[in-house]
Amino acid sequence: MGLLGAANASGLSRLIGASNWRRQRLLILCYHGVTEGELHQWNPSLFMLAENFKRRMSLLREARCNVLGLGEAIERLEDGCLPPRSVVLTFDDGFTDFYRAAWPILREYGFPATLYLTTYYMARNLPVFDPALDYLLWKGRGQQLDWPEISARKVFLNLEGRQRMSLVLQTYALQKRLTATQKDGLLEDLAERLVIDYDAFRRSRVLSLINEDEARKLSAEGADLQLHTHRHRTSVHRAGFAREILENRDCMAALGLRPPQHFSYPSGVRRAQDPQWLDELGIKSATTADAGFVTQVADRHSLPRVVDCCPFSEVEFLGWVYGSAALLPHRGNSQKTVAVLEEEETEELPYASVVNR
Ligand SMILES: [Zn+2]
Repeated sequence: MGLLGAANASGLSRLIGASNWRRQRLLILCYHGVTEGELHQWNPSLFMLAENFKRRMSLLREARCNVLGLGEAIERLEDGCLPPRSVVLTFDDGFTDFYRAAWPILREYGFPATLYLTTYYMARNLPVFDPALDYLLWKGRGQQLDWPEISARKVFLNLEGRQRMSLVLQTYALQKRLTATQKDGLLEDLAERLVIDYDAFRRSRVLSLINEDEARKLSAEGADLQLHTHRHRTSVHRAGFAREILENRDCMAALGLRPPQHFSYPSGVRRAQDPQWLDELGIKSATTADAGFVTQVADRHSLPRVVDCCPFSEVEFLGWVYGSAALLPHRGNSQKTVAVLEEEETEELPYASVVNR
């Protein structure tokens, strides 16, 4: 048992959880996908099995956490009146599984949640290219991929072969400036070579985003939909940076959603100038993927967030819920998110499309 486990078992964690120190801190948890299928086996850093997510929610209830909406939590933090063990739940990207698997569990527990939504793929209703590519290669693991137009040699799809082909195909799509539809054709071609039923995959909407109807329904049912850029990327140029956020905001306005005011950095990537640009765009808060508690003095545009995913144990999870994880040595968030969404066919580079693998 590590230090955190010992702290939880001895009751020290609960004491910390009841302290004034913890009361002055807000824990923002970050999730990506919650799946009822096998996606957690493909990418455990990105997807959590629905029953494990439900267990996490029950731990929050058992610990008598106060799960607050993001806007309310930030206001109460500023006013110095956070309730004990304050927690905010956030989800990035907007995969269909949020609507199908996570939201029903959140409603069952009566917990508010923020969904930071990218919008480019929403209207297209296609699997998101980068993660879908990686997933199909995983589905085809153990096979020889024979694709002379892409690779002169046959590639055996072990871990190394999959990673290499994923990179080769992403680069191919980028260099050929393929449109979203053409990229979907590339995925279909890949699936055929791996004897995977691509129509069934597309119909399942696995690794697609929520559609516009689902976004409206979520909003009507109380989900808090916020900004995550239109194409899951930020630019090093101010105009490009602003355009990504304004397009994201416009798409949400066109659906009649409440005007979003909060943002999360795609892939957790934050450059020095970003907080100021967000402030100038009228964005009230921005969350990162840097593990930590939010305190009253935190920069509103660089709020730390603890990424909860499969490799995270219940001991670590409870360590953060009570606060002991911030006091004892911990490993923090070793990974950053993977979901890189899309290059717009009409856009000029140098957009920073960030892949962390
Ligand atoms: Zn993301």
